[in-house]
Amino acid sequence: LVAPEAIFGAGRVNARGFDLSDARVIEEIEAARSVSLPDAAPITVSAPSGETHPVLNPATGEAVGWVVEADAATVARALDDARPWGAAPAERAAVLRRAADLYEANYGLIFATLAREAGKSWGDAVGELREAVDFLRYYAREGEAATAPARGLIAAISPWNFPLAIFTGQIAAALMAGNGVLAKPAEPTPMIAAIAVRLMHEAGVPASALQLLPGPGRVVGAAITSDPRIKGVVFTGSTETAQTIARTMAANLAPGTPLIAETGGLNAMIVDTTALPEQAVRDVVASAFRSAGQRCSALRCLYVQEDVAPHLIEMIKGAMEEQALGDPWDLATDIGPVIDARAKAGIEGYIAAHADWVMHRVAAPAAGTFVAPTLLKVRGIEDLEREIFGPVLHLATYKAGEIDKVVARINARGFGLTFGLHTRIDQRVQDVAEAIHAGNIYVNRNQIGAVVGSQPFGGEGLSGTGPKAGGPLYLARFFAAPEQAAGE
Ligand code: GLU
Repeated sequence: LVAPEAIFGAGRVNARGFDLSDARVIEEIEAARSVSLPDAAPITVSAPSGETHPVLNPATGEAVGWVVEADAATVARALDDARPWGAAPAERAAVLRRAADLYEANYGLIFATLAREAGKSWGDAVGELREAVDFLRYYAREGEAATAPARGLIAAISPWNFPLAIFTGQIAAALMAGNGVLAKPAEPTPMIAAIAVRLMHEAGVPASALQLLPGPGRVVGAAITSDPRIKGVVFTGSTETAQTIARTMAANLAPGTPLIAETGGLNAMIVDTTALPEQAVRDVVASAFRSAGQRCSALRCLYVQEDVAPHLIEMIKGAMEEQALGDPWDLATDIGPVIDARAKAGIEGYIAAHADWVMHRVAAPAAGTFVAPTLLKVRGIEDLEREIFGPVLHLATYKAGEIDKVVARINARGFGLTFGLHTRIDQRVQDVAEAIHAGNIYVNRNQIGAVVGSQPFGGEGLSGTGPKAGGPLYLARFFAAPEQAAGE
């Protein structure tokens, strides 16, 4: 199998690789360890006047910096100051490409911040920076010949699990369509957001067209999703928060104001008796445990055909033992901490409440917010109460001839983000892919890490509104509809 980047990406929009074995790269990363993040990234973009909070390193619990949050007065000022981006499309594209170059040039600082503030392993940090750069270049290319007018001001609300890539993707699309953006980063990860905004301003995005508003959802999120000057909201996060935003928007904004939401999933994978076990196990472990399971695309419920289950389960347990848990600074680390103590308590509470399901757990470091990858036995996907956003994999078995029933049970949960299938039967690939409700279907590979421009990412049902990020339909949603433009 050839990596999808090699087929679709290289030389068009995708970022260059970052070779972590290159001596020069190691030197830059070492240098970034001593960068003082508060100095490197003062959070003064909109001169916030709210409370000051420390930003914590989840691997150690130590403060790595501070953030001055935006209060109601800050948001009001930002809304007064915000303007759509008046530049011509070709100029906007040039600026976004310059921002992509600046991101790449500053990778030491970016990797260091992702590791310290978000607990990202180096592998995850590399993937995240590449995705962010890809979004900038992809939307620049998609929009440079656009003729449609901007909507106006867009509220962008992003998650901590991709605090650079999704933060950047939302903003890049909104800006490329000529809008002004009020960006609210997730509460645990304001520093990488501040670095990103600083680089975008340095590249030439006017300060009035991109304002950073770090702060709590109930203050910043509530204000920017209810002000009538907002002409669209782009959100990635939980299904519940998306529903709250939709209600707020419905009560306050003009009817038809778009909400572009990418939310949670109860993602499944089916492995049949024809699957190659070594490949399936590698992909199961990556899908469930990489990034400590903190991806909305992550595998939550694995269905294994019962004849191969005993063998496969032994192999999964063995592969779990091979995962290196530890400080993200260590290049050998596969799995870092979960984002904070509250997240850890929630995941551990869930595992404790289902102690009789536990098939296997590996050891985790005691300090910091590490959660041991855990394998739980369930009867089926209906046993899962909700999306557990951590390294927790549920496993069920099914009998020969029952795949249709399994697919129906997965569909019945109402989510539809990612789905994985390991099989060597072509007809099965076609049948299952047609029947399953999921935005992204992966066959004989892992089900995380969609590549911008070649694997547009997004879900259906409870998993999101579409259009898919990194795909050809996304940008259009950020332009004014023709009839709106005519009425303005
Ligand atoms: N696009 C990411 C992936 O394919 C997941 C995004 C998310 O977790 O929100 O792994």
